[in-house]
Amino acid sequence: EPAGTAPQRLSIFGSTGSIGCNTLDVIRHLGGRQSYEICAITGRDNIDLLARQAIECQAEIAVTANANRYQELKEALSGTGIEVAAGETALIEAAGRDIDWFMAGIVGMAGLAPTLAAIRTGADIALANKECLVSAGELFNREIEKGGGRLLPVDSEHNAIFQVFEDDQRHAIERIILTASGGPFRQRSLEDMATVTPDMAAAHPNWSMGLKISIDSASMFNKALEMIEAKHLFRMSADQVEVVVHPQSVIHSMVGYSDGSILAQLGAPDMRTAIGYCLAFPQRPSLPVERLDFAKLARLDFEAPDEARFPSLRLARQAMQAGGLSGAILNGAKEVALEAFIAGQVGFLEMADIVETVMQKLGAADMTSIDAVFEADGTARILAGEIVGSRTQRPLAT
Ligand code: NAD
Ligand code: MG
Repeated sequence: EPAGTAPQRLSIFGSTGSIGCNTLDVIRHLGGRQSYEICAITGRDNIDLLARQAIECQAEIAVTANANRYQELKEALSGTGIEVAAGETALIEAAGRDIDWFMAGIVGMAGLAPTLAAIRTGADIALANKECLVSAGELFNREIEKGGGRLLPVDSEHNAIFQVFEDDQRHAIERIILTASGGPFRQRSLEDMATVTPDMAAAHPNWSMGLKISIDSASMFNKALEMIEAKHLFRMSADQVEVVVHPQSVIHSMVGYSDGSILAQLGAPDMRTAIGYCLAFPQRPSLPVERLDFAKLARLDFEAPDEARFPSLRLARQAMQAGGLSGAILNGAKEVALEAFIAGQVGFLEMADIVETVMQKLGAADMTSIDAVFEADGTARILAGEIVGSRTQRPLAT
């Protein structure tokens, strides 16, 4: 950074989560308040952490998405001069404040509306929230174009592809290859998978992440979302997006070119590399992440994904081919099924069943507007909720 440049002004949405905490850590390493000015940070239920973060980074405003926690946050920040707000409308207002860079680190569909508000400010968008592209696809891309900011992928696979995707050679790009760790049940039988608990599903072998994405990794719904995300981010057709299981998670993803070359990005499984790349882009920051030691690694393994045990991948391909609102439907149904699994209402394998039933019932419709996306998401959630309800009326097999 040349001396005398104004600090970049940032907002971090979902600052109390795994991505949010890693983002604040990267900022700390890159000079903290000397280099960056923090506009808004947001969380939902961890008010203590949100207040501590707001004080440490001297945020302009701290917002909790939970309207019932306003008073608590207000008290925690009294006398600091930091603005306090709560609820969904407040979140969208804060996202619309003038900034240079926005971290979309809220989990789930709840991240879409605030991210759209940030896009309209023209800020660069560091996108961790994959649900935005899965649900709103081309419309989200169109909003980015209108907004004028850059879309910087944070998801490790997409960040890897972004690093080796030669945009001026786009005509020579044949395919992108997403790597998947295979999760904790990579080698489990289908029979075993029927009885796993949320705790078992949340134990990711390589990455430390939030609860929902960790369980989605175990069902490979995370990879399913990432396939759809990749299609929209890199404007690929459904059959140009491949998945290979790579249990070590050292290769973060790859791009295949027409001369037979494959370019890959490798690194330790640490989200700070991807976050730092998005923050300093097009420069490379200096970060204290673990360096790969190839002698210690000794080997890298690969295998084809098993769609019989992981039907989520097949559902993603269907959604990519159908286009329109099918990504929103897949994601809405998946969020309800996932919450039901976490609550112990349905079994692990039932999640994909529920999503498939909802996708079949609702079919594919064109995406005419962002409102249509929210509507499809809502309809998918209601239908998935009904299926969960009908299944929990009978005793759960244990
Ligand atoms: P997390 O559960 O650790 O954190 C989620 C954040 O969102 C928290 O700040 C939480 O308070 C907030 N939040 C939750 N529900 C909300 C709601 N209804 N309204 C507003 N805010 C809400 O999740 P995470 O692992 O940090 O993941 C965040 C996003 O990034 C997800 O979309 C995930 O798929 C994606 N992602 C995460 C990782 C990772 O390493 N954790 C990697 C790639 C992509
Ligand atoms: Mg990922």
